[in-house]
Amino acid sequence: MEIGIVGLPNVGKSTLFNAITKAGAECANYPFCTIEPNVGVVAVPDRRLEELAKLENPQKVTPATIRFVDIAGLVRGASRGEGLGNKFLSHIREVDAIAHVVRCFEDPNVVHVDGSVDPIRDIETINLELIFADLETLERRRDKVAKQAKSGDKQYQKELSLLERLKETLENNLPARALPLDEEESKIVKQLSLLTSKPVIYVANISEDDLISGKENEMVKKVMEYAQKERAEVISICAKIEAELAALDDAERNELLSAYGLEEPGLNRLIRAGYRLLGLITFFTAGPKEVRAWTIREGTKAPQAAGKIHSDFERGFIRAEVISYEDLMACKSQQAAKEKGLVRLEGKDYVVRDGDVIFFRFNV
Ligand code: GDP
Repeated sequence: MEIGIVGLPNVGKSTLFNAITKAGAECANYPFCTIEPNVGVVAVPDRRLEELAKLENPQKVTPATIRFVDIAGLVRGASRGEGLGNKFLSHIREVDAIAHVVRCFEDPNVVHVDGSVDPIRDIETINLELIFADLETLERRRDKVAKQAKSGDKQYQKELSLLERLKETLENNLPARALPLDEEESKIVKQLSLLTSKPVIYVANISEDDLISGKENEMVKKVMEYAQKERAEVISICAKIEAELAALDDAERNELLSAYGLEEPGLNRLIRAGYRLLGLITFFTAGPKEVRAWTIREGTKAPQAAGKIHSDFERGFIRAEVISYEDLMACKSQQAAKEKGLVRLEGKDYVVRDGDVIFFRFNV
């Protein structure tokens, strides 16, 4: 799962991305740390994993992870090929969700590309580029579909009318995700891979002072109002402080956090918001060798969840032995939980729940 970081130049994207990569480098004993320079992998903060590790005392603890991609280079005119233009847009096409960084801090030393700090104008500038790019995609698709629809094909006629509605939505300056769709339509739209149909979180980058004082920032309020219309979430962070926090070890970080009066790094809130946005949940495997968190989409059934671990687990799936995290913690050991009958045997139609601790039985 990948979240793309976008925003105008000089809003704090690289600063935030550096914080992410530094936080990711902390878990350097994972195999996925050296990847492309613009990809950062971070652990999904989860108290439950720590508690399970205390219970099992395993050789290894592996958190779930989420990937962030720094997509620099979006400027006004990108959809017409300015700046990195189309290259930038194709990077957005590949991510599952977008974290749109918006500058909500004043700093005379940091130049704004449009001369003043105005988050709503910035958001609209970017969203407009994405809308332009999508209109082009629609246009191309419509040319194809219109021909087929003329020959009386019902399926294509339905798609054509959907394309018209999408076009109208975009022309009203609304993202494609604002248009309510039925299941069949959702499938069609998915195949179009429109930029504005991707889920979005707005990341309001506020000043150090505002973060520490906790004062309501007028600019953030405006971003919230804007986001509400799209039913999008807003996370306030201070990228500069995040970068500072990420560079510290655990003890120093906790000290700095309490000095700022903060409970946790803003990055954690962003990661969790990303998780929610993507409809992701976590299940665990726990044994003496490894305690590990795995990411799946909500609604995933047991065999497919097993497939996350190994394709053989999915192919040879027999059953899942499942206990909820809460039940396991209450019993203090898997053995005690078994004796109390709290470990359920679940078959191939079982829909995995957030917090399930699972042992898979499979044929090789
Ligand atoms: P990008 O072009 O969006 O990647 O922006 P950068 O991350 O390079 O940031 C542009 C400038 O803004 C740099 O000089 C940063 O130090 C500064 N900056 C970023 N975040 C903050 C912040 O939260 N507060 C302040 N005061 N400056 C920031």
